This record gives sequence, C-alpha cells and structure tokens, in this order.
Amino acid sequence: MEKNLQKAASLLLKSSHTVAFTGAGISVESGIPPFRGKDGLWSKYDPKVLELDYFFHEPDVAWPKIKEIFYDFFGEAKPNVAHTVLARMEREKLLECVVTQNIDNLHQAGGSKKVWEFHGNSQWLICPGCKKKLHVDDVDLSQLPPRCVADGEVLKPDFVFFGEGIPDAAYHHSFEQASQCEVMLIVGTTGEVMPASMIPFEASKRGATIIEINPEPSCYTDKITDLFIRGKAGVIFQALEKLLFN
Ligand code: NAD
Repeated sequence: MEKNLQKAASLLLKSSHTVAFTGAGISVESGIPPFRGKDGLWSKYDPKVLELDYFFHEPDVAWPKIKEIFYDFFGEAKPNVAHTVLARMEREKLLECVVTQNIDNLHQAGGSKKVWEFHGNSQWLICPGCKKKLHVDDVDLSQLPPRCVADGEVLKPDFVFFGEGIPDAAYHHSFEQASQCEVMLIVGTTGEVMPASMIPFEASKRGATIIEINPEPSCYTDKITDLFIRGKAGVIFQALEKLLFN
C-alpha cells in the first residue's frame, strides 16, 4: 500500500486537473452506512420508500422512514478526514472539484467549495407544485408528511429518487469535468448506479489516469483503474495528506 500511496501522491502533485468522484464509502467512517451490503441501509429499510410513484401515493408511510434515515440519522454525521483532506486539496490547488453521488452534504461541511452533487442534497426539500426549495432547518418535520405552506403539496427531499432524472447542471458539469481531467480519484463507490457510474469511464476514455481508493474492488478496478489503493478512505487520506503537504 505504501508504494501505491507514494505513486498516488506523485501523480496528484503533478496533475494540473484532478477530479474526485465519490460514493457512499467516503461517508462510512462518518457513521453513514452505504445502501448495499450486509450492514447497508437496504438490509434494514425497504428501498421502495425512495421510489417516486410510491412516495407520492403513500407519503404517510414513506415520510417517517425517510425522516428516520436522512434527517434523524444523517443529520448527526460529521465530515471525516477523507472529506477534509479533499477540501484542503482544493484550497491548495491540487483538486479542481468533487463530483459526488452522495446526498449527505459532508463534502461542503468538510470545507469543499466546488461540489457537483449528481444525486442532489438531502438538506433541501422541494415543493413539486410551486417548485420552491426550502432548507430542512426551516421545515417542521414533527408533522409528517411536511407540506408546502403556499399550496399544501407534500414536500419532497430534493435528492434523486428511483425513477427520477439527474439534475441538468450536475449532469452536464460532472461529465464535462470527467472529460477534461488529467487524474480522476475514485473514492468509495461500487460503480453500480447508472448513469453516475459512467463518469469514471468517460474520464478514462478521454485519457485520465484513474486512482481508486476502496477496501474492496469495484466494477472499475479491473477495467479502468490504473492505481488501486486498498483501504478505508479515512486511513488512506490521512496518509496521503502527509505525503502531499509535508
Ligand atoms: P454503494 O453502497 O454501492 O457502495 C459503497 C462502496 O463503498 C463499496 O464499494 C464499499 O466497498 C466502499 N466502502 C465501504 N467502506 C468504505 C470506507 N471506509 N472507505 C472507502 N470505501 C468504503 O455506494 P455507491 O456506489 O455510492 O452507490 C450508492 C448510491 O446510494 C449512491 O448513488 C448514493 O447517492 C447513495 N447513497 C448515499 C449515501 C450518502 O450520501 N452518504 C449513503 C448511502 C447511499
């Protein structure tokens, strides 16, 4: 691992355009489980609460589960060293931006400024009627489902549900960044969720070097990863920070 870490640091120090592509794994050490796997969220909750049709037909059933997962539970999480080192890399001009599949706001909480959120952000709710967006802190979640004060519609978390399209700007800028970067740093994703999973393939096709950090191989590892660093994001980023900044 030590040798690969040094190679990664050297590639990152030389690169003029690095993009980080992150998934649920980067937030595991902040206490947020991924969706899949033995201890994943879907081993405890039924994923249909995030299906668009189900949500609108059964908001009284879906909202209490959504509140439990994304507001009571995610709400307690704090950024870990992987988030804060990526933010430091951005400040020190070693990272152009983060493209994330996560909806937990932890990159921004860790200090990152340029973050393209491919699947939206759980901190915001949207009224499907008047399209007004509200920060979760300004919404009373003690009465479920929460409703828009203007038109009475059930508010929906402003992240991408199953059966919903990707926000235009995030889609466009994420693929644009993938096509322009010299190095893509993939952190903590299985690469199983389409179309987000295509972003690293786009980067690789356009000639980027792919560095991947994950305790387990992903669908990228054997196909496009040039340098695989096996391990937990927090542990790896702690070591990487020393190599990059000392
Ligand atoms: P996933 O659940 O499919 O896979 C998680 C990946 O993280 C796996 O490859 C696993 O080996 C790796 N991992 C586990 N612990 C890790 C650690 N400590 N450090 C680094 N990697 C670790 O996640 P995905 O590929 O991101 O896809 C799931 C979808 O679910 C995404 O679209 C995302 O929007 C959503 N999701 C988001 C959050 C969040 O916002 N934190 C949490 C769960 C799911």
